[in-house]
Amino acid sequence: VRITPLGERSARAGGHALLLHFTDITHLREAEEMRRDFVANVSHELRTPLTAVLGFIETLRGPAREDTAARERFLGIMEGEARRMNRLVSDLLSLSRVESQERQRPSGEVDLKAVLDGVIAALRPAAEEQGCTLELEVTPADPSLLLGPAGESYRMRGDRDQVMQVFLNLTENALKYGGTGKPVTLRLGWQEGSGNLKGPVLRAEVVDRGDGIDPLHLPRLTERFYRVDTHRSRAMGGTGLGLAIVKHIVNRHRGRLRIESVQGKGSTFSVLFPPE
Ligand code: ADP
Repeated sequence: VRITPLGERSARAGGHALLLHFTDITHLREAEEMRRDFVANVSHELRTPLTAVLGFIETLRGPAREDTAARERFLGIMEGEARRMNRLVSDLLSLSRVESQERQRPSGEVDLKAVLDGVIAALRPAAEEQGCTLELEVTPADPSLLLGPAGESYRMRGDRDQVMQVFLNLTENALKYGGTGKPVTLRLGWQEGSGNLKGPVLRAEVVDRGDGIDPLHLPRLTERFYRVDTHRSRAMGGTGLGLAIVKHIVNRHRGRLRIESVQGKGSTFSVLFPPE
């Protein structure tokens, strides 16, 4: 904390200096609190699978030593727990990478339609296994939006791998929480921007017909480790970091994420991206 000598300043200027300092301290406190919460969450998330693995090792050394069937079963569980830790560490690394890049604008070019086709190709086998259809609906560009040469394409400035990560995470969630056997639809189109997004913007949506989300949870959904139902998320192999990663990537691309959900009907996760 800096201390500014106020002696020679006017009372008014001094007032400003003090005000600034209080704001600094509040930010520092908040940042410190968030860091502490984050470390506590990560430790807890790692401790749960670690405790399970250590427990099974003990059982394998003792009571289950001669029991081949039990040994196989326990090894299977230990493998699952090790994979969970692996996913958590990968997601933590992705999150830290996207957080540190948030202020650097990406310079590549991304064909959003090709990205969504790629997401569907990657996740269709998993969708079919659950009896879900997974489709892409493309709305042709509206000529009234005066899009110019870009109007017929779905290109934007961005980092291809990160944009792919956004829609992989959202579509995996739609498949996980969207109800078994219910269709999941990806939609792509252009629309007129609003607020601080001026001009035509690309809109890509992931729509599911699952149970939906209680509106109470919506504002906190993109926080790290925030889950509506921790038990369900864990059972589905979730780390609680997917939407936090999505939020940071969308911010880096100067885009906007909007979540709409109707309980009993399903959820729509829309992302708006400026083409430039
Ligand atoms: P997780 O690894 O738990 O899936 P995410 O950050 O991706 O973590 O999502 C956070 C939480 O948001 C999930 O645990 C789930 O409760 C809720 N959620 C995300 N997507 C959906 C969806 N399509 N339908 C219902 N709930 C969802």
